[in-house]
Amino acid sequence: MAIRIRVINGRTVALCANKTKEMPGDLYLDDNVHHALSTKFGLDWVWEGLLEKSLADPELKAIILESETDPCIVKINDEVIHRKAIKHFGKNTQMGVLQEECAELIQAISKHVNRKIDNVENIMEEIAHVDMLLDTMKLIFDKNKIEAYKREAIERFKSFLESLE
Ligand SMILES: [Mg+2]
Repeated sequence: MAIRIRVINGRTVALCANKTKEMPGDLYLDDNVHHALSTKFGLDWVWEGLLEKSLADPELKAIILESETDPCIVKINDEVIHRKAIKHFGKNTQMGVLQEECAELIQAISKHVNRKIDNVENIMEEIAHVDMLLDTMKLIFDKNKIEAYKREAIERFKSFLESLE
């Protein structure tokens, strides 16, 4: 994702180039430069727990959110929260929370499917809880391996569906 560095109200902010229009004075960083800076930023800041501090600047956050509607900001904020939870409670506790949320989702689906009680809102709520914890798991475990297993499973399922045609 290309980035525009822009000064707004005296503050220097980085904005997603796709979500903003070019303005005079912008410094444009292409994908390669952004990738290089992100990697350096990750190494220097994320693992030292400093990312949270950088995002705790409410004025800067407000300027960015007003200037673009970029879902990556939300994602970064979520990741900070998940990392904080892992650090505070530990990996096993977070896995235990996932167990509980899975159980709640099973119950919600069971009520709807087996007991024929309209429980759609509750199912969606529990899906969101499980989804949130799965994001945490992707920070505990190797997310690339998880993605590879997911691709494998989807390919197997695709073949199965084709065998039915
Ligand atoms: Mg729940």
